[in-house]
Amino acid sequence: MQLIHDFFVNMMIILALLFLYYQFFREENLTPTSSIKRKFLSGLYAGMIGILLMIYSIQVVDSTTIIDLRHIPLLLVTLYGGPLPGMIALIVIQITRFIIGINLSSFVSLGLLTSLYIGYLFFRKWKVSFIAIAFWMIIYSNIAFSIIIVYVLLDIKSLFSEINVLYWITSTVTGAMALYTTEHLRKTNHLFKEYKKSATIDPLTGLNNVRSFDEALNSAIQESTNAEKPLSLLVIDIDHFKHVNDTYGHAAGDTILAQFGKTLRIAARMNDIVSRNGGEEFTILLDNCSNREALAIGEQVRSTIEEISFSINKDISIHITASIGTSTFPETVPFPAQLYREADEALYQAKRSGRNRICSNEKTMKVYEY
Ligand code: GH3
Ligand code: MG
Ligand code: MG
Repeated sequence: MQLIHDFFVNMMIILALLFLYYQFFREENLTPTSSIKRKFLSGLYAGMIGILLMIYSIQVVDSTTIIDLRHIPLLLVTLYGGPLPGMIALIVIQITRFIIGINLSSFVSLGLLTSLYIGYLFFRKWKVSFIAIAFWMIIYSNIAFSIIIVYVLLDIKSLFSEINVLYWITSTVTGAMALYTTEHLRKTNHLFKEYKKSATIDPLTGLNNVRSFDEALNSAIQESTNAEKPLSLLVIDIDHFKHVNDTYGHAAGDTILAQFGKTLRIAARMNDIVSRNGGEEFTILLDNCSNREALAIGEQVRSTIEEISFSINKDISIHITASIGTSTFPETVPFPAQLYREADEALYQAKRSGRNRICSNEKTMKVYEY
């Protein structure tokens, strides 16, 4: 009964701490290309799980022998993170083992864990499925333990001893559960990251979507009000885009939109917030930018778009133009909350007065016959 109890406690320690780990590192899963800091922390964490497993070790019935599953965190962190985190986990566990007591069994632990670690590193290089690697790592751990048992007890019959059989069962079952849980948590984290990205990024252009534009605008408004800095907005709409779709098809329209997005990103300054607000309408939020500067940047954007050719496929390229409306707090609007409406009105005016131009209030920068 005690045995089942101990076994259960060990399994719960591993599962609970795995869960906490993936809660803590939600943004990015541990991989061999993770940062040194991340690998270091993960190694420490795995070492800490190993220590807890030693403290709550499994008592074998009617004997003073104890076994534990300290190799499982070592296995996991080496499997996913590579040599560095594995090495750190190994050092942390082994130093603690020596602090607990320097005796034969602490040296046995050193030999066992080191050979497990080296073995894990070889298994990682194996070009078979991930599940197969993990499976053989667990079997390898069990075999290494059995060899040690036979060596220490100097008796081949100890292969069938209670301690060895128990080790195989607990190590295999807990290892499989820990791997299953880890895979599940890693997938969940990956999806979480993907959803977070798709909630803020427009997939066609890679620019901010309207939701993150709203957030950026709100925080820019806060900042410019507090710091009393000017804030400008360009609202950009492609001219006669329906015509492009009607002539070349919707897919071609999408290709143009993607290139248009890239062009805006290049034409804007580094810190400007470039977004696709919907359809063929884009915005550039210009932090700490006067109306004069905004008009200059907008004019630069407009002329770049007019000049470059957008390719539909390798044979066909077309020219398009865009109209731009701009507004600036506090020069053209008394309240920053009016920035968008005013820029949109200026855009409407640019459209009405002939397109391919930039407007701010009543000022028309360029008059061009479309
Ligand atoms: P205007 O110069 O007045 O802006 O004319 P327009 O044709 O660009 O404007 P309108 O608002 O009439 O049409 C916008 C078109 O943009 C209609 C729609 O087919 C197209 N559009 C909107 N979103 C997408 C998209 O995601 N992909 C493609 N290919 N076309 C889109
Ligand atoms: Mg349009
Ligand atoms: Mg439009």
